[in-house]
Amino acid sequence: MGVFGSEEGMRNEPDGHFLPPPEPRCYEKLLQKACRGMSIPVIPSRLSILTRPHNGRPACHYCGQCGRGCSTNSNFSSPSVLIRPAEQTNNLTLITNAMAREILTDENGLATGVSYINKEDGQEQQVRASIVVVAASACESARLLLNSRSTRHPNGLANSSDCVGRYVTDSTGTSVMGVVPALLGNLPHNEDGVGGMHVYVPWWLEDEKLDFVRGYHIEPWGGRQMPSYGFLGGIQRMNHTSDDGTPRPRGGGGYGVQLKEDYRRLYGAVVGLSGRGEMIARRENRCTIDPHQVDQYGIPVLRFDVTWSDQEYAQVKHMQETMRSIIYAMGGEPTDTMPSREEGYGILPPGRIIHEGGTTRMGHDPRTSVLNKWCQAHDAKNVFVADGGPLVSQAHKNITWTILALAWRASEYIVEERKRGHL
Ligand SMILES: Cc1cc2nc3c(=O)[nH]c(=O)nc-3n(C[C@H](O)[C@H](O)[C@H](O)COP(=O)(O)OP(=O)(O)OC[C@H]3O[C@@H](n4cnc5c(N)ncnc54)[C@H](O)[C@@H]3O)c2cc1C
Ligand code: SF4
Repeated sequence: MGVFGSEEGMRNEPDGHFLPPPEPRCYEKLLQKACRGMSIPVIPSRLSILTRPHNGRPACHYCGQCGRGCSTNSNFSSPSVLIRPAEQTNNLTLITNAMAREILTDENGLATGVSYINKEDGQEQQVRASIVVVAASACESARLLLNSRSTRHPNGLANSSDCVGRYVTDSTGTSVMGVVPALLGNLPHNEDGVGGMHVYVPWWLEDEKLDFVRGYHIEPWGGRQMPSYGFLGGIQRMNHTSDDGTPRPRGGGGYGVQLKEDYRRLYGAVVGLSGRGEMIARRENRCTIDPHQVDQYGIPVLRFDVTWSDQEYAQVKHMQETMRSIIYAMGGEPTDTMPSREEGYGILPPGRIIHEGGTTRMGHDPRTSVLNKWCQAHDAKNVFVADGGPLVSQAHKNITWTILALAWRASEYIVEERKRGHL
C-alpha cells in the first residue's frame, strides 16, 4: 500500500514501516510552533500516499488533486492497488454494474450465492458461491443482510442477535477556521504537496481525567492551496482583519478593486482545524429497512435513527475550545464565535464524516454480536463481512486502515479454513 509517516514512539500512535513524510508547509510550521507552547504534539501525518516509488507505482507528483482520483495511482484506492493485482492472477471475474439485492441461502441457512440487478437492463441475475464476503460499506452491508430474509433467517441473514444495523458509529467532527495576520500578504511561494495535511495533532490527553471518554485528533488545512469555488468560506467574515493597524469595518463582501485586494491579502492567511473523535457505540443507534421506500431497482432502502449523546457533545466542546486556543496561539482570530450547547458545539450530524461502522459487530457471544473475531457470521459460517460493520468501537483514527487490516485477517482465515475443508 505504502504509507508515509514517522516513528514517534507514542503509545496512542503505533509505529510502522513508513515512507518518508513530506516537509510541513508554512502554515503547518506556524501551527507546530504555536502548539509547542501549549504542549500539544504536532507530528508528520500518516497518509497512504507514496513519497517514493513503491511496487510499480510512482511517487506522488504533488498535484493536490487526490479528491478527483489519482491519475498515477500514487495514492491508495482498491481499484488501483488491490483489484489490479487480483486481476493478474486470472482467478478474478469482475461483474460490474451489478446491484446486489439479496444473499441466497439453502434450507440449512448457509449462503448459496447472490441475487443482483443488472443495472444496464434492470434484469435480475444470480451468481452461485460457496462463500459470500459482503463488503458493500457498513450500512449497505447491513441493508443487504436485512433484505436477505428466509425461513431460517426470518429477521434477515445473520441476524438472530437482532444486532444487524445496530450500534452504528461515525466519527464526531467539528471545525474552526481563523485568520492568522502573520500570514497576511505573505510572499507568494510554493505550497504544493500531497492532497492533504503534511502534519497533524494526535490525541495527547489519554492520561488526563476529562468529562468525556476516548479521544480525538486534529487535522489542519488552509494555506496557499489551489483556490476553488467559494474559497475562504465567506470574505465578509474576515475582511476586517488588518495587517497595518488600519481599522476596517466587519462584514459586507465588498466589490470591485477592494474585493479583489481582500482576496489577494487574505489568500494563504486562513487556517482551519478539524477535529475527528471517537463516538461511543450505543445499541439504540441503528438503521432498519424502510417498509415504505425502495430504490430505483425496487430494493428496500435503509432509514436511520442515530443521535449523539452527552459524551460526544462534551468531546466536541473540548475540541472547539482547544482548536480556538490554537488559532489564538498562532496570533490569529477565529472567523466565527464558539457554537453554543444549543448548536451542539458545532458538531456535524451523524454520517457527515462518512466513517460509518459497527452495523455487523463482532464478538464471542452469538446472542450479542453478528460475527466472530474472523468477521464470520455466527449464524451462517460461509458468510463474512469485510467493511466497517465488524468494528465494535471505532477509535478516533480514520477508519479505512482498520477495515483493511480486518479484511486481510479474515481473508487469511478463509484460506486456512478452506484448506482444512471447513468451508
Ligand atoms: C469524501 C470521503 C473522504 C474520506 N476520507 C477518508 C480518509 O481520509 N481516511 C479514511 O480512513 N477514510 C476516509 N473516508 C472513509 C472511507 O472512504 C470509507 O470508510 C471506506 O471507503 C469504506 O470502505 P468499504 O470497503 O467498507 O466501502 P466502500 O469503499 O464504500 O466500498 C463499497 C463498494 O461496494 C459497492 N456496493 C455498495 N452497495 C452495493 C450493492 N448493493 N451491490 C454491489 N455493490 C455495492 C460500492 O459501489 C463500492 O464499490 C472518506 C470517505 C469519503 C466519502
Ligand atoms: S497529490 Fe494526490 S492525486 Fe496528485 S499525484 Fe499525489 S496522490 Fe496523486
